Amino acid sequence: MPNLNASATVSRPLRGLLKERFGFEAFRPYQEEVCEAVYGGQSALLVMPTGAGKSLCYQVPGLARGGTTLVVSPLVALMEDQVQKLKALGFRAERIHSGRERAESRAVCEAYLAGALDYLFIAPERLAVPGFPEMLAKRRLALIAIDEAHCISQWGHDFRPEYRMLGARLPTLRQGEAESPCPILALTATATPTVQRDILSQLQLDAGKCFIHGFRRTNIGVSVLELATAERLDRVRNLLASKERRPAIVYASTRKNAELIAEGLKGDYRVGFYHGGMGKEERERTQLAFLEDRTEVMVATLAFGMGIDKPDVRTVVHAALPSSLESYYQEIGRAGRDGLDSKAYLMWSFADRKMQEFLHEKNYPALEELDKVFAVVAQGDRSREGLAEELKLDGDLVDAAIQKLWIHGGLKVEPDDTLRATKVDWRPSYARQSRHRLDQIQRMVSFAEGTRCRMLALIQHFGDEQDSGRGCGHCDICAPDESAFRAPDEAEMAMLKGLVLALRAREGQSLGRIHREAAGKLDRSRFETCIQALSKSGLVRVLDRSFEKDGETIRYRSVEVDDFDDDDARWGSLRVPAEAPKAPRATTKRKAAAARSAPNATSFGDEIDEATKGRIERLKAWRLEEARRRKAPAFTILSDKTLMAVAASGASSAEQLQAVHGMGPKLVEKHGESILRLLASR
Ligand code: ADP
Ligand code: MG
Repeated sequence: MPNLNASATVSRPLRGLLKERFGFEAFRPYQEEVCEAVYGGQSALLVMPTGAGKSLCYQVPGLARGGTTLVVSPLVALMEDQVQKLKALGFRAERIHSGRERAESRAVCEAYLAGALDYLFIAPERLAVPGFPEMLAKRRLALIAIDEAHCISQWGHDFRPEYRMLGARLPTLRQGEAESPCPILALTATATPTVQRDILSQLQLDAGKCFIHGFRRTNIGVSVLELATAERLDRVRNLLASKERRPAIVYASTRKNAELIAEGLKGDYRVGFYHGGMGKEERERTQLAFLEDRTEVMVATLAFGMGIDKPDVRTVVHAALPSSLESYYQEIGRAGRDGLDSKAYLMWSFADRKMQEFLHEKNYPALEELDKVFAVVAQGDRSREGLAEELKLDGDLVDAAIQKLWIHGGLKVEPDDTLRATKVDWRPSYARQSRHRLDQIQRMVSFAEGTRCRMLALIQHFGDEQDSGRGCGHCDICAPDESAFRAPDEAEMAMLKGLVLALRAREGQSLGRIHREAAGKLDRSRFETCIQALSKSGLVRVLDRSFEKDGETIRYRSVEVDDFDDDDARWGSLRVPAEAPKAPRATTKRKAAAARSAPNATSFGDEIDEATKGRIERLKAWRLEEARRRKAPAFTILSDKTLMAVAASGASSAEQLQAVHGMGPKLVEKHGESILRLLASR
């Protein structure tokens, strides 16, 4: 057995294998450390970015330990690719998945039992086939590798229900004939600390070691540009104007936008577009043209780039806000694989956030909609087809509901699309995931609004704690483009001073609340611009805060205001975006004057009047109660936006209520009475 403590001697066989069997000169960063731990029998979770070389971290120690390495992989294409590569290196590698003939799979099992396999790749659902885990357990496994391990966690971005059974199946497999259980190595490129914890607990690797490395990309300068949608095309064109900024990938939010942007750039660059609505052949042709430099700008939806490894992409532009930092990081990671200087630009505005929230509501229907679908199926099996009609609901909505019910275990879907209800309580898990997705959107927004080094924010998001923690030196925060900023004019300065007073009076409160309650007519995006300006000058410090409520982590930002007077030099260092629209003078002057004459003022500008405040409080209390009763997230009862609009409307009849933005007839029918009662009371 390998000796855990003698790492110096341990390395030698591993290095030998690396060179002789895999043909590599040296380990890449962190590989050796992981290989040694696993070789020594330690289970671990390995989180490194795509392309870092994670596979080697199970291939080498598995081989060194002797016996078969079992690799659980979620995608047939991935398995086929890996097996082919290993076979080409002369290893005995095989796979069992749904795409193979029975006889082929049987032959693979026989080879396994005869001890004639170095690597066996399987899909996770294989472990549910009766007799299969028992068959595997007849021999001692060298190592169990779980690739794309984020699929285990329902917080991971492509959660796979079949991965859930791994936790239950692994103990049988690990024992074999050996005295000590064989190690497990879980691998993924995209696990946030929440997902990491979930993977460890589901695999019962609580004592497992975590290797989280390599998220710092030193050659990508990230910039965030707050831009109205209408300004983005021109800005993309300008950003790519210099030849050094191409080849480039421009990510668009929808297929239609991808085509529009491509059309708009056509006169200036050799452009292609790529999205999921195109045929396979056309997609391959477009991709190849980009790989072979026949097109220099690829406008694409998020579907682009999974399999491509183009080393010299100089710029990645996001023309809209992505839905999570995980996908954002993966996409900007396609820039500068060759190690040369590259740029990533993220374009967004508050409207993007609204769009993401809208999409979220579509993808995650309200619990009550799922309930309707579930209730019908629970009365007796249904075919997927007739269901929308029977329920008189929108077909897309029913499809989304079925998919969610299936993922969370409420429904079984037979191969012929017959739906069957189970006894599983799918509600808590669904509600949790829906909230989690919303949280991911919030984190993406916080990143865009952020005021510290962009790369550092990404690294910390992924929990890479061994990182140096230094600023990257070339993002828009570390190295701001001075020409994009100017000193505030007199009115703006007065406004900023007024804002500082309001912030000081409300230290510790969330910025969202301060904006709602004390920022007068300043819209949210200008409010954020002001906060950023104050933070960059060092007058205030923005803090990321969170608290636990009902088992959920609620995140918010607040500020600390430093000590200073009117003569402090930091006032002189204040810079606002050069393109910022000028402050609306009349109101700003009035507010600034008000702020000056009342230095203890707790608000900045027009307060929301007391009556509206009272209505907001009452509506929120009611919503919380309703949410608890229904075990549903509060926003599924009434979104914040609608709640505010309802409170401000002071509606006193069902008709008036229905006219409020966000309140449809359905909502009025359901909650109208309660809401009107709340609005009327005091
Ligand atoms: P990941 O799973 O982390 O995305 P892979 O394991 O697929 O990455 O490896 C990416 C590429 O890097 C592969 O082509 C692999 O052969 C190569 N590679 C891995 N380790 C080394 C190494 N030590 N030296 C040279 N190439 C390596
Ligand atoms: Mg991989």
